[in-house]
Amino acid sequence: MERYSVITEKNPREILLLRGKGCRYRRCAFCDYHEDSSCNTQENLAINKNALNQVKGTYKRLEVVNSGSFCELDSETIEAILQTCIEKKITTVHFECHYLYRKQITALREKFAKVGVEVKMKIGVETFDSAYREQTMLKGIKETDPTKISEYFDECCLLFGLPNQTSESMKNDIEIGLKYFERVCVNIMVENTAPLQPSNEVREIFMKEIYPIYKDNPRIDILLHNTDFGVGGTK
Ligand code: SF4
Repeated sequence: MERYSVITEKNPREILLLRGKGCRYRRCAFCDYHEDSSCNTQENLAINKNALNQVKGTYKRLEVVNSGSFCELDSETIEAILQTCIEKKITTVHFECHYLYRKQITALREKFAKVGVEVKMKIGVETFDSAYREQTMLKGIKETDPTKISEYFDECCLLFGLPNQTSESMKNDIEIGLKYFERVCVNIMVENTAPLQPSNEVREIFMKEIYPIYKDNPRIDILLHNTDFGVGGTK
């Protein structure tokens, strides 16, 4: 499993895939990211320290993902991330979090702010069409107002390429994301073992009608495959 990578274009940063105790929610209909987790905190810490040791601080920005939310990482790993930020002079660290744990974000921001590191929090909101998000994706975000969601989060992830999404719905999601969030990360659904599977027709619509409009936007990352950031998958 590749756990360290460097993103050189658009908001250049180093990125780590760390291991935690796993997503507690586990209900999203499109997700099968549950393999990369363990309740063995000592093993997780060893894996995470090994990944953190590869950080160089080249861009002073670090992104941490963990197949779940930051609060599913053990406290020693959070401390190790903090120490790495100090040692490598990282000024901004990006984490991910489900909406369910939004009340835990302030404490993390304050903890890192004490050592001069700004936290940017990303939410996998997937779409701003709340009916589709809750009835089809089963995402578990009751809040329907993007302004309220953005009170807690700086960045959002969108998920495209699913049945019944349209050119209009995808464009609308991106425009809302750009309006209320600093950055938008578009993920294109790929086949996996989850119940909700991609639509090739929608993926083609995205590539033909949406991708050309936004591909060069510096505030948008587009992952055509979920290993495009260089972490995950196998070496
Ligand atoms: S998408 Fe995220 S919150 Fe949903 S089940 Fe997967 S890891 Fe959990």
